[in-house]
Amino acid sequence: MAELVNRLSWSKSRAMSLSKCAREFYWRAYGSWGGWDRARATPEAWQSYVFNKMKNLPMLVGELIHHVIEQVFDTHQRGRPLPVVEQSLTSLRDRLRQAWRESREKRWEQSPKNFHNLYEHFYGPEPDRETCERWRDEAYQIIRNFYELDLTQKILASPAEQIRTVEKLEEFVFDGKLLFIKIDLAWHDGEKLHLIDWKTGGTDDSVEDQLAGYALFAGRKWGVPIEQMLGYPVYLRDNTIGANCLAPEKIERLEASIRRYFDDITPRLVDTARNQADINAFPMTEDLWKCRNCFYRQLCAR
Ligand code: SF4
Repeated sequence: MAELVNRLSWSKSRAMSLSKCAREFYWRAYGSWGGWDRARATPEAWQSYVFNKMKNLPMLVGELIHHVIEQVFDTHQRGRPLPVVEQSLTSLRDRLRQAWRESREKRWEQSPKNFHNLYEHFYGPEPDRETCERWRDEAYQIIRNFYELDLTQKILASPAEQIRTVEKLEEFVFDGKLLFIKIDLAWHDGEKLHLIDWKTGGTDDSVEDQLAGYALFAGRKWGVPIEQMLGYPVYLRDNTIGANCLAPEKIERLEASIRRYFDDITPRLVDTARNQADINAFPMTEDLWKCRNCFYRQLCAR
């Protein structure tokens, strides 16, 4: 098997990490490299790899809702009978229970990639039953809302080939640099390409950048001009559809922030050709409040 190479790359989560705390970025992008092979990795690399895979309860619930939605569109693409809402709720419940059990039993110690590790179990405190049930019930309602949405029905009534991509990690090149993006759903209605960002929480400021990233990818990789795209969030808690966020200046703003991201990292590297970094070039944040819920705080002793 070819040796894995740690390539310098941009993704929304890495960019957010860098703007939050340079040390967190280091753990994610460099300190954890090779940590998947516990027998050969340093304890620090293994530990940061474990934290790379960690989630908190809201993240887990959001991820599992996205899985259920993905499953519906994937089934449509395969031309198979679609799961009815009760089947999707059962699937969500089973996945939630399994994730909770795996995390509690620390099965991730065998494989952090294949078993869930919840922040609430690792650092505590474990949420009480009432809190868990509230999260579960909200997730159920979100799935029901998704099924009731006119947009969902419209997509499912259209030919399967009009779906371009569902939750697939895509990579592309911008200014000679590697970028990763995961589009929730790209669907063509016969006239325009819809880039859809399913939101399982409330509104958040990053949605414009998220959709600009989808459009940047669709323009570069599929050659779709911006006038032929619509990009919008769908808030599944109350089934509202946000306005089209795409505009040339928003894509330019994202491009500028991607350039700044690479300009920030490159001078810190000890070997740019091999993308190697030294921990000291990525200092810990002075804003201690950021450490309170940080997954890496054990490594930083904070
Ligand atoms: S614990 Fe604090 S210093 Fe360490 S990575 Fe997290 S935010 Fe940064």
